[in-house]
Amino acid sequence: MKCPFCQHANTQVTDSRLLEETNSIRRRRRCVSCRQRFSTFETVEMRMPQVLKTNGSRVNFNPHKLHTSLARALHKRPVSPEKIDETVTLIEQRLYQLGKKEVPSQLVGEMAMEELAKIDQVAYVRFASVYKSFNDVSEFTQAIATLPQSQQTE
Ligand SMILES: [Zn+2]
Repeated sequence: MKCPFCQHANTQVTDSRLLEETNSIRRRRRCVSCRQRFSTFETVEMRMPQVLKTNGSRVNFNPHKLHTSLARALHKRPVSPEKIDETVTLIEQRLYQLGKKEVPSQLVGEMAMEELAKIDQVAYVRFASVYKSFNDVSEFTQAIATLPQSQQTE
């Protein structure tokens, strides 16, 4: 770390402190040449993975698009708008926590289906039918069969 005042290459760390709120570390430093003091911050670099589409292109994860798909699936279902927001945030966090540079778009769809299955059976089937664009009945039946038992009695 070069001194920002005199560009001297050698600085001493006089104090290190973890800042809980931002998950960063602040270091107090002192230049061994000009004796000026300054601080540096270290933060964990994290970023959202890009979404790799089936056609090979990469796009940024779009929470609004996910929200729209979920809202469409949940149209007129007894689920609050807040729940949709929560679900989008949850999926966003899950993607973020993967710590990957890119994820296949199918994974985002699967996460959405997984969450919908927990929230509302009808919405799940709606979403799955659009998302997977079912070609045959067996695929459709399979999707229904994977629903949690507790929600099939609706
Ligand atoms: Zn200096």
